Amino acid sequence: METDVCIIEPVIRTKDPDLVSRKSRPEGTVVNVNGIPIGSQEIVVMAGPCAVENEEQLSETARNVRAGGASMLRGGAFKPRTSPYSFQGLGMEGLEMLGRAREKTGMPVVTEVMDTRQVENVARYADMLQIGSRNMQNFPLLKEVGQISKPVLLKRGMMATIDEYLHAAEYLLSHGNTQVVLCERGIRTFETSTRYTLDLNAIPILKQRTHLPVIVDPSHGTGIRSLVSPMAKAAVAAGADGLLIEVHYSPEKALCDGSQSLYPEEFALLMEDLRKLAAAIGRGIHTL
Ligand code: PEP
Ligand code: MN
Repeated sequence: METDVCIIEPVIRTKDPDLVSRKSRPEGTVVNVNGIPIGSQEIVVMAGPCAVENEEQLSETARNVRAGGASMLRGGAFKPRTSPYSFQGLGMEGLEMLGRAREKTGMPVVTEVMDTRQVENVARYADMLQIGSRNMQNFPLLKEVGQISKPVLLKRGMMATIDEYLHAAEYLLSHGNTQVVLCERGIRTFETSTRYTLDLNAIPILKQRTHLPVIVDPSHGTGIRSLVSPMAKAAVAAGADGLLIEVHYSPEKALCDGSQSLYPEEFALLMEDLRKLAAAIGRGIHTL
């Protein structure tokens, strides 16, 4: 006799866009940045100054983070600043400095592109193009960067929901660029004790809903130097595939985000802790 079987479907709040959906690639994506795999068992640490300021600042800081164990160098040449009177970055000159620091240290470089007109130049010097929080929904930029073949670091908009974030990533994939890494960098909440609220929930949520690698930026996520290491460790414990950390060889001299930048010695200590933590959860820290 046939019985009526009531099949209860799980409630799906929203349908994730096809290309980024975990369903389309259950095994996960590993993004290759000039030989460095992001999204593998090994956690990738990218570190460096907020902004490229001058040759000495960049080369010293790059040397420091390389010695501490970073695999990639970060640093903005084009800076999105709240005030038009703040240091806007060195532009092309900054890109050239990043190119030299890459040669000297062997670390691939990630740097921000803010405008469609900068894509060609930034892609010439960078190993990975960063799309910042303020540009997460800059659709012309997403379409343009979607058409190049370099890996992309797409940061979460400070006021973007996970759905909006996944749709922004879908723009890149649907325009042909599948080499996309996501980065949780803190969201706006009612809390004023920190610059942003680092949304640790986003790590497992994103890992479940998309096949793209997920890294975390505890520097912008907290805005406070003493909170960076604890939150970096929390991010790794929660399953992050990498970290983006601001380090400055002399934070008090920084033209941008000095108060959230680690001293080189702090960074080195953090890396030691991260190596132990990674081992405890069956992962490792990528080394060059
Ligand atoms: C940065 O990483 O340099 C930066 C500007 O971060 P965000 O876009 O997350 O504010
Ligand atoms: Mn910064």
